[in-house]
Amino acid sequence: MVTPFSDELRKYRPAFERVKILDATLREGEQTPGVSFTIDQKLEIAKKLDEIGVHMIEAGHPAVAPDVYEAVRRIAWMKKEGEIRAEVVAHSRAVKSDIDKAAETEADRIAIFYGVSDIHLNAKHKKTREEALSIIGEMVEYAKGYGVKVRFTAEDASRADLQYLEQVVKTARDAGADRVSLADTVGVLTPWTAQKFFEHMVKAVPNVEYDIHAHNDLGMALATAFGAVMGGATAVHVTVNGLGERVGIVPLQLFAVAVKVHFDVELVKLSGLMELTRMVERYSGIEVPYNMPVIGDYAFLHKAGVHVAGILADPRTYEAFPPEMIGRSRDYVIDKYTGKKAVKAKLEKLGIKVDDDTLMKILEEIKRSNLRFLTDDALISIAEKVSGKVLRPKATENVEAVVWVKVDSNAFTGSVARRLSNIEGVKEVSEVTGDYDLLVRIEAPDHKVLNTILDTVRGMKGIVGTHTQIVLKKLEK
Ligand SMILES: [Zn+2]
Repeated sequence: MVTPFSDELRKYRPAFERVKILDATLREGEQTPGVSFTIDQKLEIAKKLDEIGVHMIEAGHPAVAPDVYEAVRRIAWMKKEGEIRAEVVAHSRAVKSDIDKAAETEADRIAIFYGVSDIHLNAKHKKTREEALSIIGEMVEYAKGYGVKVRFTAEDASRADLQYLEQVVKTARDAGADRVSLADTVGVLTPWTAQKFFEHMVKAVPNVEYDIHAHNDLGMALATAFGAVMGGATAVHVTVNGLGERVGIVPLQLFAVAVKVHFDVELVKLSGLMELTRMVERYSGIEVPYNMPVIGDYAFLHKAGVHVAGILADPRTYEAFPPEMIGRSRDYVIDKYTGKKAVKAKLEKLGIKVDDDTLMKILEEIKRSNLRFLTDDALISIAEKVSGKVLRPKATENVEAVVWVKVDSNAFTGSVARRLSNIEGVKEVSEVTGDYDLLVRIEAPDHKVLNTILDTVRGMKGIVGTHTQIVLKKLEK
């Protein structure tokens, strides 16, 4: 039970169990201002999306540019080779040359879009409603002629005349489209209107599957997608990190986690979501905001003393779902709002135990410092100052560490390796197979120096991930 009204929502569980996820990161996501993925990045993202179990991948609009064409072709090829299982979708305008290009890529499905509101018909297409109907019918049939699955996207469907929209969907269906996407192009639907809208359309024009493509202009996209599924939509369009035109569409991670929380249905492998988050942050150059739900840095970071006390007693007090669900962990901010329990918990996490008296003094000192964020190091310093004892783990002499390094796919591994070898303290750099690219052996006189070296390694351009292990003791041969 999530709320006392959950039972009412639960009756929609079967709808959420069968809903398909279409990820459009590679198509809609690349329409985010400033975003352009390389072909290799697209292949990597597609593989990861497939790995977590996304049902459909909208790979791009092949007629837009040669590299987009090439990416769609290669993703379609991966499907043919059995490297991925997801259905591969190619986007297309309702013109023959676009459809030809899309068909050439050998994608599983061609998705043809056409604006169907009077605003789009008049301002963009300059066509009458009747003219548009015949174009839609003709182009869907033309694409069908290639022997592929066809989706028709009714662009700006949420602002179209409802009776006319029925005619549009009938036309597309009768011409051979097995799916019709009703696009909320400017994000004006709400959960309630979306549900009504889809209920109406499913009843008025049956025997075709409906997709919801919801934009987030009013921050409603995720909620709209929920309403649409409750109304009968059987596919939801999402992107990783919510990328897309303007402010984007439904974020994959948020939709997947919300469905899990409310219906206990795991549509995709939730444990793979954070890796996708980071990958798309890196390749798009757009970082997720700190306060983004589910995936933002602050999603499980607790601050007020009362909150932290609650969390320490039972995490459910201030968490809708446990961070472990998506492979994350909770943490506490230490600042002037902090309570005794948080400081105690934080110190214990750092392996430091202090008596109550010292704890109170540390807390007073923290409240006086008025820092926005107190780092672990600063906290230990305060604790040492107050207690008059050395509390940090003693520096052992001659520490040794091995660091596994993942190199950005855009960076040249050889040059990263060379720069690493130039760092003082780095004794050996080897290229390795597997999840990481390089193995670095470091020797340092003490932990402090080691940490400085590690910071240099982590901050080096071209390095996207590291995993450090301290050598405990050398075993004899
Ligand atoms: Zn869109």
